[in-house]
Order: sequence, then C-alpha cells, then structure tokens
Amino acid sequence: MPPAPTMRLYLADDHRLDAGARVVAVRDRSIAFVHADSDGVVWHVSPSSPPASSVDRPARLIVDGERRRVLTRYHTGLHVLNTIALRDYGGWITGVQIGVDYSRIDFKLEGLSAAVGAELEDKVNAVLERDHDVSLRTHSTARARSV
Ligand SMILES: [Zn+2]
Repeated sequence: MPPAPTMRLYLADDHRLDAGARVVAVRDRSIAFVHADSDGVVWHVSPSSPPASSVDRPARLIVDGERRRVLTRYHTGLHVLNTIALRDYGGWITGVQIGVDYSRIDFKLEGLSAAVGAELEDKVNAVLERDHDVSLRTHSTARARSV
C-alpha cells in the first residue's frame, strides 16, 4: 500500500523554509529532486541513502533559502515574459527550464526577429522595473488542465 499523500506545506506558506516531518517510506534514489508521484506522494531525495529503519522516525526538512530566492526571481521574470509574449505576440510556451545560474523559456512565436526580441525585452524590463507586488494563487490540477 502506498504511503498517504503528502501535505504540501509550500502551498500554504511559500516562504516556509523548514518543517518537521515523519519518514513514511524509503526507496532507492532514482530521482534527483523533490518529486510528486502518481499517488500524490512527494519524495525528498537525501544526499545519502537513508536506512530502511528511518521509516516512521522524525525528520527535519530544510530548504536552501538563497537557492529558493534565486529560483523565485527567475520564476517571476519568466511569468512576466510569458504573459507579454502571449499577449502581444501570440507566443505559446513550448518549454521552460528554471535554474540557479540560468533559466530559459521557449515559445512558438511567428515572425521572431532581433527587433521583436529587443522590443519584448524592453517590455519585460519595463514591467519588472515597476517592482509590482507579487502574489501567489494556486488552482486545482483539474482547473489547470481545463484551461
Ligand atoms: Zn509559475
């Protein structure tokens, strides 16, 4: 029987950087990051394989706050870029990669040129320079798939 679905604390408080937990299962490290499986269980990968005796023992989860801050800034910038690319140029996302040192977003965009790229960059920077407040909203997976 799979473990019960994990409480996603980051949905309730996206600034939370640590939490207590209890180990509900241990499996081979086959993934390289936090990953939710098809049963809704969020697996956390540790640098070393925890012993099977860890099950049902307490654990402490700690988020790297500086890494989180950098990823959040990239994430927000990519949302601004995505919004303007779609609104002004009909550009639909075909891929995205967010990292600490480099992030990118791919679009299906007709008529892309150096001039359009420069215009898009100017528009994105103009929005970012206004330093808007950013808020977080979450939607159900069903709603997200219906859009
Ligand atoms: Zn997002």
